[in-house]
Amino acid sequence: MKYVSTRGGGTPCSSAEAIKKGLAEDGGLYFPSEIPTLTSDELSELCRQDYPHRAAAIMHRFLSDRFSLEELLSDCREAYCENSFPGGAAPVVHPGDGLYVLELWHGPTAAFKDIALQIMPRLFVRSVKKTGDTRQAHILVATSGDTGKAALEGYRDIDGVKISVFYPVNGVSRVQKLQMATQEGKNVRVYSVIGNFDDAQNGVKKIFGDAEINRVLDQKGEFLSSANSINWGRLVPQIVYYVSAYCDMVTSGAIRPFEEINVCVPTGNFGNILAAYIAKCMGLPIHSFVCASNRNNVLTDFFETGIYNRNRPFYTTTSPSMDILISSNLERLLYLVCGSEMTAGYMKSLAACGCYTVTDPIRRELSHVFSGSYCGEESTAEEIRHIWQTYRYLADTHTAVGLHCAEEYLAKVDGKRKMLVVSTASPYKFAPAVLSALGGELPQNETEAAERLRDLTGVPVPKPLDGIAKRKIRFDPDQPIKAEDMPTVVTED
Ligand SMILES: *Cc1c(COP(=O)(O)O)cnc(C)c1O
Repeated sequence: MKYVSTRGGGTPCSSAEAIKKGLAEDGGLYFPSEIPTLTSDELSELCRQDYPHRAAAIMHRFLSDRFSLEELLSDCREAYCENSFPGGAAPVVHPGDGLYVLELWHGPTAAFKDIALQIMPRLFVRSVKKTGDTRQAHILVATSGDTGKAALEGYRDIDGVKISVFYPVNGVSRVQKLQMATQEGKNVRVYSVIGNFDDAQNGVKKIFGDAEINRVLDQKGEFLSSANSINWGRLVPQIVYYVSAYCDMVTSGAIRPFEEINVCVPTGNFGNILAAYIAKCMGLPIHSFVCASNRNNVLTDFFETGIYNRNRPFYTTTSPSMDILISSNLERLLYLVCGSEMTAGYMKSLAACGCYTVTDPIRRELSHVFSGSYCGEESTAEEIRHIWQTYRYLADTHTAVGLHCAEEYLAKVDGKRKMLVVSTASPYKFAPAVLSALGGELPQNETEAAERLRDLTGVPVPKPLDGIAKRKIRFDPDQPIKAEDMPTVVTED
């Protein structure tokens, strides 16, 4: 298995190099030269295994050029242990009717990103060693909230690595801010940045592409890498939970073996839903995908019209992890459906004028598999209320966006197939919004919203979020830096 750039430049490399480097030399994203297939026998076998074994088996299919199954199994056992994921890494719950919910937030930071970021640092450290590199890695992360905390927790105190995280000062929730500001570990740094997520992400992208900064760091014995969902090491563990969820639906009797399901994913950077699509390409029986967006509905328009246009107002919503106008991982989908030459052209156009239009045949091909839809702010709150009243299921704002689009799809497009909706955050991570959606009165102090929500619903608060307001602040959120100062803080000690 070789890894190539979605833009066709550079030389193909090994899985270890792709994970070490994060971004290809020509600015493209790494993708395997072919997608391995999952036979029906293999799928049946996976149904009998636990999560760590499923994870090692699936990941090995993509990484076997440089990783042994034993290495991966040992890493997966550690990453997905009961201590980190009490009750399982990716449980499927059934609120009722055709709705099944894949809960991805039972990890150490109560974010779905934990699933990738608990294993990725282990893959990364192995990858650096396997490529013979002795320099220290400096991980740069731009985050709209959850990635930052999950990456900090995954990389903290790992030898040979340091990590700097940048988040938009007014683009994350109070709890997310507190989680990052109180991060422990000797190799971590956290910065709030003036602007929105795209400003922080563009700042990081510029640093990666700046030859002078890279030269200065190299002299210090450091090299840059990313933990964002553009890194293949982030994406490959995400393929696993779709296969695992499908197996769990089979073993629980929710579906017959090989029965087709639909999948709805609340989407921002397009990493999570892309992983689901790759699972389908491997042979997992998924019929269609609903790409659910919030009010920042650039993807909804894209799937409908074939025009991707980021030149539009940016809204700050109650589902901030999806407040994104450039969905980086969409590039990998484009590569899969139209090849590297056209992808490179579209990305050039996106960089130059913030816009591109795919050809009509490509738009039609995508529309057979993907359906874009979105849920505005009022509908998000209504959905939280409706799902609670109907099923006694407590959903966070991001999950509610997914549930809204999923219910619409079940009612209007396909009511026959079971719908697997991905739940990406604990309701307690966005407690003020969830509480007010349920008609609860907001307390003066935002951090008390979680207690009120618990009193109102009786749903327990996940351990990682309990008592967060009482922990010591290490990185002051109220002293944001300017995006243009990001290179300075990265190169200083
Ligand atoms: C990151 C995140 C998303 C978006 O996932 P993508 O892979 O970027 O599409 C959705 N919800 C939550 C809570 C997240 O943290």
